[in-house]
Amino acid sequence: MEMELNELWQAALGEIELQVSKANFKTWLKNTAIVDKKGGIITVAVPNSFTKEWLENKYHKFILRSLRNLESEIKEVNYKIQQGQNFSKDDFKSKNPSLKGADATKQQLDFQELNVNALTNLNPRYTFENFIVGSSNELAHAAALAVSENIGKKYNPLFIYGGVGLGKTHLIQAIGNQISKNNPAKKIKYVTSEKFTSEVISALRSGSLRPRDIDDFKRRWREIDLLIIDDIQFLSGKEKTQEEFFHIFNALYDAGRQIILSSDRSPKSIQTLEERLRSRFEGGMIADISYPDLETRIAILKSKANEKNMDLSDEICEYVAQNIKKNVRELEGALNRLIATNHQLGKKELNMIDVKKTLNLLISAPKKNTTFKNIIKAVAEYYDTSEKELLERSRKKEIVKPRQITMYLLREELKSSFPFIGLKVGGRDHTTAIHACEKIKKELESNSVLNDEINSIKEKLYLV
Ligand code: ADP
Ligand code: MG
Repeated sequence: MEMELNELWQAALGEIELQVSKANFKTWLKNTAIVDKKGGIITVAVPNSFTKEWLENKYHKFILRSLRNLESEIKEVNYKIQQGQNFSKDDFKSKNPSLKGADATKQQLDFQELNVNALTNLNPRYTFENFIVGSSNELAHAAALAVSENIGKKYNPLFIYGGVGLGKTHLIQAIGNQISKNNPAKKIKYVTSEKFTSEVISALRSGSLRPRDIDDFKRRWREIDLLIIDDIQFLSGKEKTQEEFFHIFNALYDAGRQIILSSDRSPKSIQTLEERLRSRFEGGMIADISYPDLETRIAILKSKANEKNMDLSDEICEYVAQNIKKNVRELEGALNRLIATNHQLGKKELNMIDVKKTLNLLISAPKKNTTFKNIIKAVAEYYDTSEKELLERSRKKEIVKPRQITMYLLREELKSSFPFIGLKVGGRDHTTAIHACEKIKKELESNSVLNDEINSIKEKLYLV
């Protein structure tokens, strides 16, 4: 019985892991376990009340969804504090004496997520060895390799951008892991831009009482040999953080240290990024990662299956790769489901029928519809403006483009009528709406930056 619960939880964690940030996963899901399952009600044991609150308030949705995807009869999840609940990877094995050899290794692999290096913040699971190269990422990969061999000398900064789940974090962390392996003396730090922002804010706050804190803060950052900042788009609009980052950037750059940045869009498309920062980014190497083609998807799937000790026939690999196209993260999600099914069925190898049944939901899920409200929200968020401003009748210059894109999306995604669009967005008549849609359409033919921007917005709209 316990065995089954553990397996269910491992499979669910595998999915949750793909949906929440690594840091959060590590903080809130470590030391949890399913301890009971009765009548569709699951009880998850957690180590303390703080965790209980977080899971209930922030992650309940993910947890419930992941469990339901695995077993549709589950209808409720409760959280219970249970002290001494400690499922670190070692006692996981000892609590599961039936897990031997390959199985135990596989379970431990799932726990690698928790092995983030406390000094560098790097996750050892991201390496060059397990990064599959295809035409969609070969330039970014080559640049990353070059940087790992010529730290600070070749491409500085290295700026990698691309859509969600396409391997940016994997690649930039692989550089860090490689350098840390070859040059253990180098000081390496990986942070998300959110984490960076919160550190800047807290340094400024405590620095207002103790000015020395600011100096300490600056010194700490300026000692770094390799600074990796992930998802830099979140610096958009945060003036004070950008200011501090600019100083740190310059200090590191002038001292020949390496800086690596990632973003979901090109520097050109990051709104309200200070011009001097943008031009610094553009002074280095910019490489994008796009959607993997079928061959690359098959190769990734095989490699991931292999990593998790899962046997998948060529036929199955091809079927999955042909049907799951959105991004690599989704491909991994599909693989996790197959692994869970395999556990449930207790079979040695899955057949095509099992696979189709398991993935049916994922594949035949109709394209999600979006709404007027969602489009307004997504555009406003992307361009850092307010929803109100987008809809109002104003002539503010910086609103013109976001507003035209809103109109375009309303037309393309919702098939709204031109009079409706004109009226709702900026209170104009239908000719304004027609003009806006045509203008964007025309521009899309030649402007690849605009293309990226609109794709990012759509990604947000249809994100599961
Ligand atoms: P991003 O940061 O671009 O959103 P991630 O780097 O988090 O994407 O990638 C999502 C998942 O897909 C990760 O588990 C990563 O290991 C995997 N992945 C992405 N691209 C590749 C690749 N080319 N080879 C192997 N795994 C990949
Ligand atoms: Mg990422």
